[in-house]
Amino acid sequence: MLELLWLLLPVAAATGWWSGNRHARASNTSGNRSSLPGDYVRGLNYLLNEQPDKALELFVRVVEVDSDTVETYLLLGSLFRRRGEVERAIRVHQNLIARPHLEGRHRATAMLELGKDYMRAGLLDRAEGLYKELLNTRFLKAEASYELQRIYEQERDWLEAIRSAEAYQSTSGDSQQTVIAHYWCEAAEQQRQYGRSRLAIDYAKRALVRDPGSVRASILLGDIALTARDSAQAAKHYARVAEQDPDFLPVVLPKLRVAYSGLGDQSGLSRLLSRFRGRKHDSETVLQMIRDMLERGEEPAAREALLEEMRKQKAPLRLLREYVALEQTRFDGDQVAILSLIERVLSEHVQQWYTYRCKQCGFRTKNLFWQCPSCHNWGTIRPYESPDDQ
Ligand SMILES: [Zn+2]
Repeated sequence: MLELLWLLLPVAAATGWWSGNRHARASNTSGNRSSLPGDYVRGLNYLLNEQPDKALELFVRVVEVDSDTVETYLLLGSLFRRRGEVERAIRVHQNLIARPHLEGRHRATAMLELGKDYMRAGLLDRAEGLYKELLNTRFLKAEASYELQRIYEQERDWLEAIRSAEAYQSTSGDSQQTVIAHYWCEAAEQQRQYGRSRLAIDYAKRALVRDPGSVRASILLGDIALTARDSAQAAKHYARVAEQDPDFLPVVLPKLRVAYSGLGDQSGLSRLLSRFRGRKHDSETVLQMIRDMLERGEEPAAREALLEEMRKQKAPLRLLREYVALEQTRFDGDQVAILSLIERVLSEHVQQWYTYRCKQCGFRTKNLFWQCPSCHNWGTIRPYESPDDQ
């Protein structure tokens, strides 16, 4: 902190303390024009004696704030916050706001900064109050809406987050449609947890209106339908994912199998799977086809199909594991024990793969998150297939 205050010393000398000295000179009958202002000397002493808080106290009280010095104050405040010295940052920004002659735009900037200090200190309600106040001024409305959006995200108050995102979108022109769709999905999941499935469906459909490509909304609507034992609806919603974003087929294919088996429509599933063949993430489609064949008792055909696919694919470890599992049914004794060991080794290897990756920051995970835990972007984590990408 000390080094930051040393930076302010020339500013202090050039402005506030200097002008304070002029006033003192005007009323000084002794005519001693060469002395330094007393506050300046005291401030310097505090710094020399490594008493930064006293020096800071003096700075914020005595130095005149005008359009020249306000930038330095704002810089000092944000430097304090970035260094984790939040209380000091708060003191600097509060002091700025309290100055009666501060220009409106400077007061607004100080309020925005103070709000960030409060957020850093975990005082979300105080930050929220400041940002709402800021919305009633002529300045920094987009920034205030953006920060409010962050607060409501943290508080998981999704309807308020949607309102703030809309306000931010209309003032900044920066599209928030994808993010708003995720907020609707979050709100839908909350309602689903409360057992209010009709409201959950309503919210998930609003997500689809905001972002017709929202695979999350389709998967959610499918899951709700499946819980209500409406397999036909579930299959319809899950199948939409293939059109919205085929990269998400590995997520939705196992769910589609459950829906079709609820319908008792094996041939419908086969037709659907053959439509998906040749697309990205093909090994998941192949796996589901093989399991479909096995359910129908077509074991030799399933074995043949597996062998054929393994010849085609570059790193068919998941298919090989399936093949080894299938082969165990044809042998007995020691051979089964060996095959079982091979299957276990392959399984352990495959389970170490990361299945999802954030296209924004590269964060890798075995679980699908709709908001990246690392960069906090929405909808940037996507499935990927090849172990070569690991
Ligand atoms: Zn990320």
